[in-house]
Amino acid sequence: MSLSEHQAASLSAETVVVAAGRPPRERDQPVNPPITLSSTYFGTGPLGDGDRGYGRYSNPTWDPFEEALGQLEGSTLPGLLYASGLAAVSSALSLIPAGGVLVMPSHSYSGSLVMASELAQKGFIELRTVDIADTDAVKEAIAPGGPSGRPAAMLWLESPTNPMLGIADMRALADAAHAAGAIVVTDNTFSTPLVQQPLLLGSDVVLHSVTKYLAGHSDVVLGALVTSSPEIRSELLHHRIIHGGIAGPFEAWLALRGLRTLALRVERSQASAMLLAERLAAHPAIESIRFPGLATDPGHDRARDQMKGFGSIICIQVAATSRLSGADAADKLVQALDLWLPATSLGGVESLIERRRRHTAEPASVPENLVRLSVGIENLEDLWADLEQALKALDG
Ligand SMILES: *Cc1c(COP(=O)(O)O)cnc(C)c1O
Repeated sequence: MSLSEHQAASLSAETVVVAAGRPPRERDQPVNPPITLSSTYFGTGPLGDGDRGYGRYSNPTWDPFEEALGQLEGSTLPGLLYASGLAAVSSALSLIPAGGVLVMPSHSYSGSLVMASELAQKGFIELRTVDIADTDAVKEAIAPGGPSGRPAAMLWLESPTNPMLGIADMRALADAAHAAGAIVVTDNTFSTPLVQQPLLLGSDVVLHSVTKYLAGHSDVVLGALVTSSPEIRSELLHHRIIHGGIAGPFEAWLALRGLRTLALRVERSQASAMLLAERLAAHPAIESIRFPGLATDPGHDRARDQMKGFGSIICIQVAATSRLSGADAADKLVQALDLWLPATSLGGVESLIERRRRHTAEPASVPENLVRLSVGIENLEDLWADLEQALKALDG
């Protein structure tokens, strides 16, 4: 079913998203993999490695997406699909031994932070949160210390972070973590493998909320993990089977359908994000902006070094007006938009916008007036015209 290894190595990612995971080229085979709706499979005698067995162990509808994502992330092994990004986070965190130290960005995705904090509160792990853009601080957090005196067992990377868009020096941090004996997991949701390939930058495991760019149409919730290590992959697969966070076949099918246009979507939304960021940066109603593509952004040089492009998430802080606090101005901006959809999430074809602190789980260090924009694939001038009229409405 998969492209041969030789083919996969020589094809560009823009081709792999279209060509990977096709059924065999045999007369009257469908060109697209079908959806298999079955909770069990025929079989007698002992179950071998290649046997499907039962619907929680495997489903043929998962395979094409898992193969394609593995290839895109530069692994020779297929990825693993999960019921959601957070089911994948749960599986990845299960790699930490009892009492082990987890070093995590203080501005990780809020759900990942909540899960890690709850594990720490119950005494299952020791959690150290750190500014992931501060390489020395991360190295210090990885080193032996804290209540247990232990070094890190796992370094969690997110770069750019959600929602502060901090950029980690991924190679240097992976080296430091490995020197301390830690495993490195990178949440690559914001970048997609087309923009950043964490396994090639030293990470051991890559995580995606497939809900976002990979599926790309805001119509499924799914997650995935990819690793190049057969040992880690079988540990994760065992966790998926026993904890049961498996993908529904229809969602898996939709994710593969979405993946087919990933390269086009990423190209368009990245180009639009760059131009919108430049215009927003020059607008008087914006107090500050984070977008790694801007030459003035603190993460710009690192991002240029380890990413192909700068993604399509922009964060702005809306300036207070004579009558409105920054947070109220941010709310008013979101409400005044006609085209941008006021909704959480990101990475879909439609442009989404939200004030992040509307979520109570968002860390208090995220400013009240911070608005996150996920740039979609609509016409750039239409997106800008809508933002401009809404920013103008803040004066009135
Ligand atoms: C959305 C998201 C998650 C969680 O994924 P779900 O599919 O919502 O469970 C994890 N990490 C990042 C960066 C995300 O944006």
